[in-house]
Amino acid sequence: MVRAIVGANWGDEGKGKITDMLGQDSDIIIRFQGGANAGHTIVNNYGKFALHTLPSGVFYGHTVNIIGNGVALNIPVLINELQGIVDRGVPAPKLLVSDRAQIVMSYHILLDKLEEERLAGKSFGSTKSGIAPFYSDKYAKIGFQVSELFMDEQELKDKIQRVLTQKNVLIQHLYHAPEVKVDDIYEELMEYRRMIEPYVCDVSSYLNKALKEGKNILLEGQLGTLKDPDHGIYPMVTSSSTLAAYGAIGAGIPPYEIKQIIAVCKAYSSAVGAGAFVSEIFGEEADELRNRGGDGGEYGATTGRPRRMGWFDCVASKYGCRLQGATDVAFTVLDVLGYLDEIPVCVGYEIDGKVTDEFPTTALLEKAKPVYKTLPGWKCDIRGIRTYEELPENCRKYVEFIEEQLGYPITMVSNGPGRDDIIFRNR
Ligand code: GDP
Repeated sequence: MVRAIVGANWGDEGKGKITDMLGQDSDIIIRFQGGANAGHTIVNNYGKFALHTLPSGVFYGHTVNIIGNGVALNIPVLINELQGIVDRGVPAPKLLVSDRAQIVMSYHILLDKLEEERLAGKSFGSTKSGIAPFYSDKYAKIGFQVSELFMDEQELKDKIQRVLTQKNVLIQHLYHAPEVKVDDIYEELMEYRRMIEPYVCDVSSYLNKALKEGKNILLEGQLGTLKDPDHGIYPMVTSSSTLAAYGAIGAGIPPYEIKQIIAVCKAYSSAVGAGAFVSEIFGEEADELRNRGGDGGEYGATTGRPRRMGWFDCVASKYGCRLQGATDVAFTVLDVLGYLDEIPVCVGYEIDGKVTDEFPTTALLEKAKPVYKTLPGWKCDIRGIRTYEELPENCRKYVEFIEEQLGYPITMVSNGPGRDDIIFRNR
């Protein structure tokens, strides 16, 4: 059975925590898209960890953790992260890396930085991890698959030469930076080969066998629907699909094997980078929510950047769940809202004088103004509560109001960062 855990919003919904929790009864956990440009924060018995590349299942001894072909694989980041958790007492996890995954090259990171500098104020808010240049090259068919690390020396050098001829035109003439040398890239790839060799695997074949044996498989998404290059707030999106449907491609399994899709929604909104964010709040109101938010404040797991904050957005989240094909909604970080007397919820967008609850394309989104409904707060700490009935009435009303607006069942409510801070709703 395959389950997917994906974000319904802009990312940072708390997917890592839900994956870590559901990892307990999974045999295999797979990253299927994205790269080291975002991160999950996980709190468990070993401590607090920010993972950027490793699947969230690495803390369990019994799981096999897989980097699928859809991932932008930064080999040194992966290996450092692996070493980092082992150094902190976590037993070395079982890790497999798809032989079809492509490699983030040092010139992808360089080009990302140079382009951000060139765009200055008009930048897309890249994390400068090379993700956009990486995926551009993948689809321009000049990327390097893990399998290519093992090819004949001369063939590999010839390919590097071909690619660098193009890259160096940009590097030297558009950005006025020093040329990148073939031998340096070749050496870099040989170093990557040494690092990655023990983990390389024909992942789709491995998964095909695992499915036949009835193994429980978890697909772990990065970011959320609104950062999807097709269905998100283009161009302020990421470069690989953030949708559960892509899990089939980015892992190499049949789409019909995905039986459960858990869309993770946060009880308020946050976003990083540029782009329209209709229910955004500012000033002291935003600072307070940011500082109380998540576990120790809403600051990027990879960049440390303060996140943009907003009230829960039913329009965006309903759309987010729909595109994911949610069978379940995990509603997270609800405990954080316990300080508020009243909680505004965005229930519609006003665009050119008309109110809609359908999420629009980017040009219209820029004009949208939030329509709020205000719900009463519950004014207490709900951490530690383990059954839905024990939640304060106004808290349950908040959950049920949002569930009705979404049109998808909220089957899990998360009321704290820990593995056990979860309330299952039987529906
Ligand atoms: P992800 O990329 O979707 O996994 O999101 P993040 O890593 O940004 O996770 C959000 C943050 O919220 C992390 O610091 C989590 O430990 C924390 N978190 C997750 N669920 C909850 C929750 O229910 N309550 C609180 N207070 N924090 C949570």
